Amino acid sequence: MAKLYFQYSTMNAGKSTLLLQAAHNYRERGMDTYLITAQFDNRAGEGRIASRIGIGEPADTFGKGEDLFAKIQARLAQSPISCIFIDEAQFLSKDQVWQLARAVDDLNVPVMTYGLRLDFQGNLFPGSASLLALADEMREVRTICHCGKKATMVVRTSEDGTVLTTGAQVEIGGNERYVSLCRRHWRQETGDQTPE
Ligand SMILES: [Zn+2]
Repeated sequence: MAKLYFQYSTMNAGKSTLLLQAAHNYRERGMDTYLITAQFDNRAGEGRIASRIGIGEPADTFGKGEDLFAKIQARLAQSPISCIFIDEAQFLSKDQVWQLARAVDDLNVPVMTYGLRLDFQGNLFPGSASLLALADEMREVRTICHCGKKATMVVRTSEDGTVLTTGAQVEIGGNERYVSLCRRHWRQETGDQTPE
């Protein structure tokens, strides 16, 4: 039976690289895939999943409020798909995660989602909270802090490296940077305040 998968991590752990590699493995065996990523300022459907190591693939996009069950059903009506891959899954809404779960159960297609677990203030992203609740299988993609411990948290910094502790959960098009840290160093960098 098909399953809903969630692979989560902090920033710069190589999630998109893993997604692209897994999709490649399907296509190498002659099986078609359907890649979807979050729609930001690009026009609908004109997304791209790119990894920091220089590989990338064009992808369809999901927008706010878009019905992903209907989108997947429409795509499956065109030709068979062996697996659906979704990047930036932290930006899914709770409704959209349920739509993916229904697609897995009722259309019998595996859906592999990849996303960030926590925002820069240490809170779960809504899409990740719903995926942690609903996914059949979950896996943590690991990366390390500068101290060598596993990095589970992320700080947002300004261009000059100042750590930012306030601001919107999603900043698009700014000059913010992100650094992945273990919890102890995250607490040190953010002044050990309980986040809002
Ligand atoms: Zn550390």
